[in-house]
Amino acid sequence: SGGRQFFVGGNFKMNGNTKSLSAIAERLSSSDLDDTVEVVVAPPASYLALLSAKLSAKENVNVSAQNVHEAEKGAFTGEISCSMAQDCGARYAILGHSERRHVFGESNEQIGTKTKSVLAAGLVVIACIGEKAEDRKSGNTMNVCVEQLTAFKENINDWSKVVIAYEPVWAIGTGEVATPEIAQETHSQIRTWLSENVGSEVAASTRIIYGGSVNGKNCKDLSLQPDIDGFLVGGASLKPEFVDIINCTR
Ligand code: PEP
Repeated sequence: SGGRQFFVGGNFKMNGNTKSLSAIAERLSSSDLDDTVEVVVAPPASYLALLSAKLSAKENVNVSAQNVHEAEKGAFTGEISCSMAQDCGARYAILGHSERRHVFGESNEQIGTKTKSVLAAGLVVIACIGEKAEDRKSGNTMNVCVEQLTAFKENINDWSKVVIAYEPVWAIGTGEVATPEIAQETHSQIRTWLSENVGSEVAASTRIIYGGSVNGKNCKDLSLQPDIDGFLVGGASLKPEFVDIINCTR
């Protein structure tokens, strides 16, 4: 993967409680994790402080928000700001996750505004993009990805603080993982887009991670593809096999 540090994120979505998430933190703390891998877990906002405290001794394992609001504070009932997530220990924020886009109706424009706030706060952005099944069937995969990438790009001033997560919507939570060949093809097209629209150095150094039904069994083959620099893992990040995914390049 071109010298890019392998990155494995766990998106817990709206799952877990004090007991079960503490158990996951303890499993990560006591496991022999490949210390060349950058590991991030994204619990529900209500457990950010718990997870960041429980993982504080593990230098390569950090905590991410699943989403943030773009404003610093104010009358936005139910939302949290970048500085609040940071105050609870987050060093990263996932933006543009498929569920935020398609269940909660977030637009590219809104995700762009959030990107600006996240970077201004000093957090790393995990920038999610990905097409729906109908887009892939109609040959529009890269059209959709480029629209999403463009909204991120217009708000990014420092690409060293960005990880791109390519997550085809048809593969998220479905058990229908992209084949290594299909994932590699799209990752390579995303890297080419970066090269042509941002610059060759950014294209060479930016991690492009894959998400969508990654598990302990399919991770190795995906990891061998030259443009796959890690994973964003949903369901399997709550299970013991998350450790195998972290260690799959060892
Ligand atoms: C995700 O939510 O980002 C994801 C990839 O989910 P899953 O691994 O469960 O498909």
